[in-house]
Amino acid sequence: MHSYLKYTCLLLFIFLLGCKKDNPLTEEQDQQTEEPAPVAESRISPNDFLSDKKFNQLEVEILYVKGFRPRAASTDNLKAFLEQRLTKPKGITIVEREISSPGKAAYSLADLRDIEAANRSRKTTTETLTAYFFFADGDYAGNSGNSKVLGVAYGSSSMAIFEKTVKDYSGGLTQPAVSTLESTVILHEFAHILGLVNNNTPMVEAHQDEAHGKHCNNKDCLMYYAAETTDIAALLTGGNVPQLDAKCIADLKANGGR
Ligand SMILES: [Zn+2]
Ligand SMILES: [Zn+2]
Repeated sequence: MHSYLKYTCLLLFIFLLGCKKDNPLTEEQDQQTEEPAPVAESRISPNDFLSDKKFNQLEVEILYVKGFRPRAASTDNLKAFLEQRLTKPKGITIVEREISSPGKAAYSLADLRDIEAANRSRKTTTETLTAYFFFADGDYAGNSGNSKVLGVAYGSSSMAIFEKTVKDYSGGLTQPAVSTLESTVILHEFAHILGLVNNNTPMVEAHQDEAHGKHCNNKDCLMYYAAETTDIAALLTGGNVPQLDAKCIADLKANGGR
């Protein structure tokens, strides 16, 4: 009796295994749980960030060198800014990770691309749009003169913040708070990724400061050119992070944003 039961159980088990293998329904389910397909960087546009046409969720990956992690207040400001301007019904998440120092005093654009290639772990797929920040323990290699670059947006979803420079120009008695300067440059660079100004998000009304590239001609606007250089440190008063002006917001709204 006992061994008969055992035999039945074994048979049943084999039957179930065989059944699972041959069942076409199970194969269909397997296909549905396959990894979503990667989307090439070159195919990502500001509209993909602003609208929910292709992507309804966004993941922002922040990599930082030890000692150069952004303040929580700054990443909170970034999340609030993105939630206010982007149409992402399935949400916006920020993930942070420490990486070892690439060991340079100054970083060129080529260096930043190499660091991204070696360390960025979140890539855009048909399911999730991603963006990337590197918080560097050094200055920008292309600095010239008295004004230093605080951040750069160098790809369709890639940005770097020269956090050492940010720290040099904030937190002191006569300087803006670290989180104020940090937030300003983080939001400014992300707004370039969103296509401002005239940077693949068309202008509703002309407001580009053409002498200074893809920037806004309103000196109170977040997209004023000085906002990504150390010149902004002297302009930041009362701890307020500059906001986008009406013309910049109109451009974002016309391209799928809010
Ligand atoms: Zn800029
Ligand atoms: Zn503006």
